[in-house]
Amino acid sequence: MEGYRETEMCVRCAGGCCRRQPGHCLPSEFESAQTVREAVVSGKYTIVLLLDSQIMARVVRPHYKEPGRRVGCVFLQADGCELQFADRPYGCRMLRPRQRDDELCTPEGISIAEAAEMWEQSGYLPPLSACSIPGR
Ligand code: SF4
Ligand code: SF4
Repeated sequence: MEGYRETEMCVRCAGGCCRRQPGHCLPSEFESAQTVREAVVSGKYTIVLLLDSQIMARVVRPHYKEPGRRVGCVFLQADGCELQFADRPYGCRMLRPRQRDDELCTPEGISIAEAAEMWEQSGYLPPLSACSIPGR
């Protein structure tokens, strides 16, 4: 399985990435529009709109631990991620942990913006026009 597993640095860091934002999924991690719908209805996953001058597209990823503050990941527990490595979102598996405290962890592979374009092309999401956009 492609990706980076937790390191000693991750144990010390106690999931800093997971306490900020969940990693992004790819459409290939879901079988159909129905699977996506069920995942969202379960409350474990959500559809996030990326919206800036460069992009207006949605991506599926785990829901926030604290939806009101839009932080954290619902799958993060006191002893780490409750998902098996192979079941974790692509964006989680592809975050390369830093090796030293003064470095940054590095997202590799398909970026969240590229993943969002893939989601818009997938046919697994409802029409963008059917979604409400916060603040509009
Ligand atoms: S990938 Fe980086 S931010 Fe995430 S737990 Fe490991 S060291 Fe911390
Ligand atoms: S799915 Fe697991 S690895 Fe990914 S952000 Fe959530 S707790 Fe972290």
